[in-house]
Amino acid sequence: MLTTTHRARKARTCDRQECTSQIRPGDLIVRTTTPPGRHHLYGETGWVRSVTHAGRCPVEGPTVAEWNAAHPVGTPVLAWPGALTDEPLRTRTRSRAWVLDSGYPVAMVDGYAGGILLTHLTPLETP
Ligand SMILES: [Zn+2]
Repeated sequence: MLTTTHRARKARTCDRQECTSQIRPGDLIVRTTTPPGRHHLYGETGWVRSVTHAGRCPVEGPTVAEWNAAHPVGTPVLAWPGALTDEPLRTRTRSRAWVLDSGYPVAMVDGYAGGILLTHLTPLETP
Protein backbone atom coordinates (compact mmCIF):
# COMPACT_ATOMS: atom_id res chain seq x y z
CA MET A 1 0.00 0.00 0.00
CA LEU A 2 1.42 3.38 -0.99
CA THR A 3 0.38 6.55 0.76
CA THR A 4 1.33 10.14 0.07
CA THR A 5 0.23 13.27 1.88
CA HIS A 6 -0.64 16.50 0.08
CA ARG A 7 -2.61 19.67 0.46
CA ALA A 8 -5.84 19.49 -1.51
CA ARG A 9 -5.98 21.88 -4.48
CA LYS A 10 -9.73 21.77 -4.84
CA ALA A 11 -12.79 20.69 -2.95
CA ARG A 12 -13.81 17.05 -3.25
CA THR A 13 -15.60 14.39 -1.27
CA CYS A 14 -13.68 12.14 1.07
CA ASP A 15 -13.42 8.52 -0.10
CA ARG A 16 -13.85 7.08 3.38
CA GLN A 17 -17.32 5.68 3.12
CA GLU A 18 -18.53 6.79 6.56
CA CYS A 19 -17.01 10.28 6.32
CA THR A 20 -19.51 13.01 5.58
CA SER A 21 -17.07 15.95 5.69
CA GLN A 22 -16.05 17.64 2.49
CA ILE A 23 -12.34 18.03 1.76
CA ARG A 24 -11.62 21.75 1.24
CA PRO A 25 -8.77 23.39 -0.70
CA GLY A 26 -5.69 23.53 1.55
CA ASP A 27 -6.75 20.59 3.74
CA LEU A 28 -4.15 17.90 4.33
CA ILE A 29 -5.16 14.77 2.46
CA VAL A 30 -3.78 11.27 2.08
CA ARG A 31 -3.72 9.48 -1.26
CA THR A 32 -3.71 5.73 -0.76
CA THR A 33 -2.97 3.31 -3.57
CA THR A 34 -3.75 -0.32 -2.85
CA PRO A 35 -2.56 -3.07 -5.18
CA PRO A 36 -4.85 -5.79 -6.54
CA GLY A 37 -5.63 -8.51 -4.01
CA ARG A 38 -5.12 -6.30 -0.94
CA HIS A 39 -8.63 -4.97 -0.60
CA HIS A 40 -12.21 -6.09 -0.72
CA LEU A 41 -14.06 -3.17 -2.19
CA TYR A 42 -17.29 -3.47 -4.11
CA GLY A 43 -15.98 -6.34 -6.21
CA GLU A 44 -13.01 -4.23 -7.36
CA THR A 45 -10.09 -6.41 -8.36
CA GLY A 46 -7.58 -3.91 -9.77
CA TRP A 47 -5.61 -1.08 -8.18
CA VAL A 48 -7.69 1.11 -5.90
CA ARG A 49 -6.84 4.76 -5.32
CA SER A 50 -8.56 6.75 -2.63
CA VAL A 51 -8.30 10.23 -1.16
CA THR A 52 -9.18 10.80 2.49
CA HIS A 53 -8.59 13.37 5.20
CA ALA A 54 -5.08 13.11 6.66
CA GLY A 55 -5.07 11.62 10.14
CA ARG A 56 -8.62 11.14 11.20
CA CYS A 57 -11.70 11.86 9.24
CA PRO A 58 -14.01 14.00 11.33
CA VAL A 59 -16.61 11.68 12.86
CA GLU A 60 -19.88 12.36 14.64
CA GLY A 61 -20.43 12.22 18.36
CA PRO A 62 -18.39 13.28 21.39
CA THR A 63 -14.60 13.21 21.35
CA VAL A 64 -12.71 10.86 23.65
CA ALA A 65 -11.69 13.81 25.85
CA GLU A 66 -15.29 15.04 26.15
CA TRP A 67 -16.58 11.55 26.94
CA ASN A 68 -13.90 10.78 29.55
CA ALA A 69 -14.37 14.14 31.27
CA ALA A 70 -18.11 13.61 31.65
CA HIS A 71 -18.41 9.82 32.05
CA PRO A 72 -16.01 7.96 34.38
CA VAL A 73 -15.54 4.18 34.13
CA GLY A 74 -18.63 2.53 35.60
CA THR A 75 -21.11 5.02 34.17
CA PRO A 76 -24.47 3.30 33.56
CA VAL A 77 -25.30 3.32 29.86
CA LEU A 78 -27.58 1.95 27.23
CA ALA A 79 -25.35 0.31 24.61
CA TRP A 80 -26.05 -0.73 21.04
CA PRO A 81 -23.18 -3.02 19.94
CA GLY A 82 -24.90 -3.51 16.60
CA ALA A 83 -27.50 -1.41 14.85
CA LEU A 84 -29.26 1.41 16.67
CA THR A 85 -32.55 -0.27 15.78
CA ASP A 86 -31.60 -3.32 17.93
CA GLU A 87 -32.71 -3.72 21.54
CA PRO A 88 -30.05 -1.91 23.65
CA LEU A 89 -27.95 -3.50 26.39
CA ARG A 90 -28.52 -1.90 29.80
CA THR A 91 -25.04 -1.99 31.32
CA ARG A 92 -22.13 0.18 32.50
CA THR A 93 -18.81 1.22 31.00
CA ARG A 94 -15.69 -0.75 31.95
CA SER A 95 -13.06 1.34 30.18
CA ARG A 96 -12.24 4.90 29.36
CA ALA A 97 -12.95 5.91 25.78
CA TRP A 98 -10.18 5.68 23.18
CA VAL A 99 -9.79 6.15 19.45
CA LEU A 100 -9.48 3.20 17.09
CA ASP A 101 -6.95 3.30 14.22
CA SER A 102 -9.93 3.93 11.97
CA GLY A 103 -10.56 7.21 13.80
CA TYR A 104 -13.71 6.14 15.63
CA PRO A 105 -13.96 6.79 19.38
CA VAL A 106 -15.15 3.75 21.35
CA ALA A 107 -15.48 2.48 24.93
CA MET A 108 -16.02 -0.96 26.45
CA VAL A 109 -19.02 -2.04 28.56
CA ASP A 110 -19.79 -4.98 30.85
CA GLY A 111 -21.32 -7.87 28.94
CA TYR A 112 -19.74 -7.17 25.57
CA ALA A 113 -16.25 -8.05 24.33
CA GLY A 114 -15.31 -5.28 21.92
CA GLY A 115 -15.28 -1.51 21.87
CA ILE A 116 -18.59 0.20 21.14
CA LEU A 117 -18.86 3.47 19.23
CA LEU A 118 -19.55 6.43 21.51
CA THR A 119 -22.44 7.28 19.22
CA HIS A 120 -23.91 3.89 20.24
CA LEU A 121 -23.70 4.63 23.99
CA THR A 122 -26.26 6.69 25.88
CA PRO A 123 -25.39 7.52 29.50
CA LEU A 124 -28.15 6.91 32.06
CA GLU A 125 -28.74 9.24 35.00
CA THR A 126 -29.29 6.42 37.51
CA PRO A 127 -28.04 2.80 37.57
ZN1 LIG B 1 -12.81 12.02 5.51
